[in-house]
Amino acid sequence: MDNAAYSWTRHGYDLAMEELKKQCEPDWVWLSKIPVHNWARCAMDTNCKTDLICNNLSETFNRYILDVRSKPIATMLVGIYDKLMVRFDGKREGAAKARWDITPYYTERLELMKTYSRNCIPKRADLGLWQVKSGDATHEVNLATRSCSCRKWDMTALPCNHAVSAIYKAELHPEDFVSDFFKKPMYLNSYKPVFAPMPQQHGWIKTDTEDIMPPGFKDHQKGRKQEKTRKGKFEVPKPKENSRMATITCSNCKLQGHKYTSCSVPFRSDLAIRKNNHKASRSMPAPVPPPSSSSSATAPAPRPPPAAPRNPTTAFAAPRTPFAAPRHTGFRSYFSAGANACVGRDANVPPIPGISSAGPSCSDVQ
Ligand SMILES: [Zn+2]
Ligand SMILES: [Zn+2]
Repeated sequence: MDNAAYSWTRHGYDLAMEELKKQCEPDWVWLSKIPVHNWARCAMDTNCKTDLICNNLSETFNRYILDVRSKPIATMLVGIYDKLMVRFDGKREGAAKARWDITPYYTERLELMKTYSRNCIPKRADLGLWQVKSGDATHEVNLATRSCSCRKWDMTALPCNHAVSAIYKAELHPEDFVSDFFKKPMYLNSYKPVFAPMPQQHGWIKTDTEDIMPPGFKDHQKGRKQEKTRKGKFEVPKPKENSRMATITCSNCKLQGHKYTSCSVPFRSDLAIRKNNHKASRSMPAPVPPPSSSSSATAPAPRPPPAAPRNPTTAFAAPRTPFAAPRHTGFRSYFSAGANACVGRDANVPPIPGISSAGPSCSDVQ
C-alpha cells in the first residue's frame, strides 16, 4: 500500500495496486473505494508544492503548543500568542542576517539533485524542451512550464535531477528555477505580520455587555490527574535525549561516535552546503566523461567547459514572477566574482543598517 501511496506516477501506482490485489484482495477492494486524490501522491494536486502525504503539520503544531495546551482556554490562547510573537520576530531577524537565498532545507535538497543529475543524459528537443535519459527511464523536461514527466518538479517546485541536468546543459543555473515560495523574499513576507504586544486583564476596558463567567468547576475529590509515571525504587533513569551517554551517528559516513562536522570522509553535497551556511554555490559542474557502457555510441559529447559566459538576453529566459528582481550582475560577473561571492543575495531585500550581509550563522533559522 505504501508503494501505491508514495508513487509519483500513475504507472507506478497501477503496478503497486496490482501487486496489492495479488497479495490481499479485501484490502484492495477497501482501498479502491477511497478517492485516489485523497491518499495517493500520483493523483494529488500539484498546486500546493509539497510532496507530503501524511499529517506532519498538525503533529508539529501539537508538539509546539504542548506546554500550554493543558491550560485553561484564555491562558492557552495567550500562551500561543506569546510564542508566535517571539517566533515571528526571531524569524525576521534571523532571515535578515542569514546568508542563504533559498531556504536551508531546499538548498540541501537541490545540492543532492545536482549530484544525482550527473547520471542523466539530456538531449534538446526544442527551445526549453528536453528529453532526459536516466537509467532505463526517459523523461520530458519543459523549462518554460517548469515541469518534468516524473512529476517531482511539478509537485515540489524544486527541479528534479532530470531538470537539473537539462538546466546545466542549457548553461543556466538550477537556483533560478526553484520556486519563489522557497526563496528569501517570500520567507520574509510570510513572517511579516507583527504580533503587537497585548495587554492582559489589567488593560481590559469595561463594556455594556454582560460579563462572561468561567464554567463552574466540579469538586475534584481525587486531586489532580497523574501526568507522569512513577519510577520504581530501583529503576535506572533513561539517558536524556541530549545526554552525552547517547551514541551519535555521523550523517555523512553513517559511522557512530562523531558528528558530520568532524568527519574525515569527503562531505555529501547537501552536508557540504550546510557547513557553508547554505550559501548557494552557482558554479557549473565539471565536465563528465561519457559513460563507458554499451550506450556509449549514442552518448553526447562531454559538457562544455564551465566558464563559457553567454549573453543572458539570447539565452533561454526562465519565466519570472514579480518577486524575482532582474539580475543586474549578468553571467560574466558570476564567474569573475567567484562562486562564493555574494551574488546570490536578492536585490529585493534591503540590507539592514548595522548588519553585514555575511552575518552570523543561520543555523537557528530553520
Ligand atoms: Zn524529473
Ligand atoms: Zn563520519
